[in-house]
Amino acid sequence: MYCSNCGAKIEDSIRHCPNCGAVIVPNAVKTSSASGNPSPLPDPGNVLFWGILGFALSFVFGPLGIVFGCIGLSKANQYFTLPSAEFSKKVSLARSFSIAALFIGLAATVLLALWIYLLVNIFRSAPSYI
Ligand SMILES: [Zn+2]
Repeated sequence: MYCSNCGAKIEDSIRHCPNCGAVIVPNAVKTSSASGNPSPLPDPGNVLFWGILGFALSFVFGPLGIVFGCIGLSKANQYFTLPSAEFSKKVSLARSFSIAALFIGLAATVLLALWIYLLVNIFRSAPSYI
């Protein structure tokens, strides 16, 4: 094996590198770190965050629900092909939240538009007492 500090070739049995004096880390640590993260995967919690945010905002203000629902859905679609079971579970949950955010946001926007329309009509048709 080789020293993780200076790269000098050393015997497996010794604990300290004869070249630089660094403590030799056992093979297991090196191999697990090498196979543990071949390419750092993006955090699926981030996708879930956008979906839930859109879902929550859709109740408060419809158009925001649509916007964040779209963001959540596009982010979830980015991760759609990833193989990890736990990962895809979170992503599919994020998709569900995003789709719900889109529909609720759409409904809330229609209601908001209807409400504004009615309000404008009430003001317009109100008899002018003054
Ligand atoms: Zn060394």
